[in-house]
Amino acid sequence: MKNLYDYPRDELEKYFLSINEKKFKAVQVFEWLYEKRNNDVNSWSNIKKDVRDKILQDFSFEMIEIIKVEKDDLTRKYLFKLYDNEKIEAVLMKHDYGTSICVSSQVGCNMGCAFCESGRLKKIRNLKTYEIVQQILLVEKEANTRIDSVVIMGIGEPLDNYENVVNFIKIINDNKGISIGARHITLSTCGLIPKIKEFMKLPLQVNLAISLHASNNELRNRIMNVNKAYNIYDLITCIKEYIAYTNRRVTIEYVMLDNVNDSDKNALELANLLKGMNVYVNLIPYNETNHLEFKRSSKNRIFRFYDILKQNNINVTIRKEFGSKISAACGQLRSKEVK
Ligand code: SAH
Repeated sequence: MKNLYDYPRDELEKYFLSINEKKFKAVQVFEWLYEKRNNDVNSWSNIKKDVRDKILQDFSFEMIEIIKVEKDDLTRKYLFKLYDNEKIEAVLMKHDYGTSICVSSQVGCNMGCAFCESGRLKKIRNLKTYEIVQQILLVEKEANTRIDSVVIMGIGEPLDNYENVVNFIKIINDNKGISIGARHITLSTCGLIPKIKEFMKLPLQVNLAISLHASNNELRNRIMNVNKAYNIYDLITCIKEYIAYTNRRVTIEYVMLDNVNDSDKNALELANLLKGMNVYVNLIPYNETNHLEFKRSSKNRIFRFYDILKQNNINVTIRKEFGSKISAACGQLRSKEVK
C-alpha cells in the first residue's frame, strides 16, 4: 500500500477521479497534509465520511521517526529511523538569508566516491517519496521553523532514485504542498548523464549542482568511480547542453582534497574546462572522516585555488562550513550508528 505522502497532486487527482470523486479533493487533501499539517483523516471536516473512510482504507500513513538530534548554534543534525530500521540523516542550517535543509535520497550509496562516507557503506535501498518528504515535515516541526530552501545533497545519489526524487520535488514545490520555490531547490549529482538529460526536460525550474571534484579524467577516475561510466569530458558536454536547454546556471562542486586535486595545475585545468560556461564553482572544504585517509586542503591552498579561478574569470565561492563539530557533514551521523 502506498503512503499518502508519496503522492504528488496530479497523481492524487487521478486517484480521486478513479473513485468517482472530483479531482479538487486532491487540493483539499494537500491543504490538510501540507498547509495545516494534520494527517488525522477523521478530522478533515470538509471531506465526507465515506470518502475519508476510503482514504483510510487505500493509503498508509506511516511516518519516519527522529531518533537523534545534534545541535550547535547554526546547525541541527537529525538521525531518522525508517520502517525497516534503516537510518538516514538530514541537516538543518541557519543562514543570514534563511533556513536550509539537506535531505537524503537513499540508504547508503552505490556511486563509490573514494572520499565519501556514504559510499563506503554502499546502497541498501532507495528512499520512498514519503521518506524524503517527511524529513522536511519532521524537521520543521522539531525546530519549530519554516524551511526556505532544500538541497538534495544528503546520503545517496538522487538521480539513482529518479522517480521518487522527482515526486518529492513536485510535492515540495507545489503551491498547495510545502510550497518551496523551484529556485530554492537544488539537486546535486555525481554526473549520471542520461538521467541529467531526462531531468532537464522536466518542467521544474530547480537548480542543478554537479559534483565534479576533478579537472581531468585520470584524476576523476581515481576518486570517483562514476567517471568510468560517464567521463568528465562527456559530463562537461552534457552540462553545456543542460545550460543551453534550460537557460539556467549550473553549480560545480569541487571538494578540496589535500594533495589530491588542489594543485595550481588542477585549478588552471578546471578553469580551462569551464571557460565561457554559465557556471559557478563552489569550493568545499573537505570534512575529514575517521575511516578514510583523505585530508582537507589547507586554508592557503583553498584561497590560492580560488584566486586562480578568479583570475581566469570563473565565478567561484568557498562554501561556508556548518556543523563540523557535530559530525554534521556527509553521512557521518549514520555512519557512527552502522556497524
Ligand atoms: N550523490 C550526490 C549528492 C550527495 S553528496 C552527489 O554526488 O552530488 C553531496 C556532496 O558532498 C557531493 O558533492 C559529495 O561529493 C560531497 N561530499 C561527500 N563526502 C564529503 C566530505 N567528507 N566532505 C565534503 N564533501 C563531501
